[in-house]
Amino acid sequence: TVSILTGCSKTVQDQAASSDQQQSQNEEKKIKIGFSLPTLREERYIKDRDYFVQRAQELGAEVLVQAANNDENQQNNQVENLITQGIDVLVLDPQNADSAAALVEAAHKAGIKVISYDRLIRNADVDLYISFDNVKVGELQGKFLTEKVPKGNYFLFSGAPTDNNARLFKQGAMKYIQPLADKGDIKILFDQPIKDWQPEEALKLCENALTANKNQVDAILAPNDGTAGGIIQALQAQGLAGKVVVTGQDAELAAAKRIVEGTQSMTVFKDVRELAKKAAEVAVMLAQGKEVKDLPEANQTVNNGKIDVPSILLTPVVVTKDNLESVLIESGWFKREDVYSK
Ligand code: BGC
Repeated sequence: TVSILTGCSKTVQDQAASSDQQQSQNEEKKIKIGFSLPTLREERYIKDRDYFVQRAQELGAEVLVQAANNDENQQNNQVENLITQGIDVLVLDPQNADSAAALVEAAHKAGIKVISYDRLIRNADVDLYISFDNVKVGELQGKFLTEKVPKGNYFLFSGAPTDNNARLFKQGAMKYIQPLADKGDIKILFDQPIKDWQPEEALKLCENALTANKNQVDAILAPNDGTAGGIIQALQAQGLAGKVVVTGQDAELAAAKRIVEGTQSMTVFKDVRELAKKAAEVAVMLAQGKEVKDLPEANQTVNNGKIDVPSILLTPVVVTKDNLESVLIESGWFKREDVYSK
């Protein structure tokens, strides 16, 4: 008789009782997500954090957020702490792409799935990677520079060597720059990474490169807007701001203003609002026991040195003076008055 009852013949009362039970179970077992960011220095991370938390809360989950001040030891401690607090899923944007592999292992030992957020964790069994097409980000920068300056002197800055994205950005940019350098049209006078993406470091390196090359530079690959800010400050001091083509990335407010005034030539817009929301959604799904293979949006893979990680990659967009209005203002990224105020 019992097995007959389990079919479709449950009474209304039974159903009400079981949904009550379910509800109280849900309350007891509210999903907990750990979200670990490498830093909050760049403007974008405030949006990453806020949109992630908001979306996760809408879906009934609780989020524990940590930011590590560009310090890998601090991030290790924070993540270990999140694990002991009983999170169901870890969403990790690593300060150090390689050493974060140990955190993935620790999380897995505790039965916690790991999503690599924005930056890829290398040589680890990452469950899912969610980011932008980062090679494409670099391609947009390289294409822009080589179209504006097909012949001339180049300085190439790249992001933190500990950040896998920095590698991908550079790789994308070199698809355009390298062939022209090989032809001799482009002279690469400077080529260095910037520790921890520090704007002050970019400023110093650029000052030195300008001195060493007697200010003879036509184009500068700046990997993001923060470092572009330092580089443009160094140019400004030599009366060169606006005369040298400079790239960027992140669509920060200060960069939008520099694009309007003409001292920065472009930025790459990555809508991290979408990234954060999508990440929150998939984190909740994984916490509810869904498998990565059941997520239709994880339709590609990126190799991290150990495995092909199922990946969700969003598309970056170039922003120049010409489309700033439509891309950054009409999309609600900035208020018009914020961009055009002094
Ligand atoms: C991110 C960039 C950011 C940089 C510095 C990169 O991994 O993709 O958006 O500007 O790190 O934090």
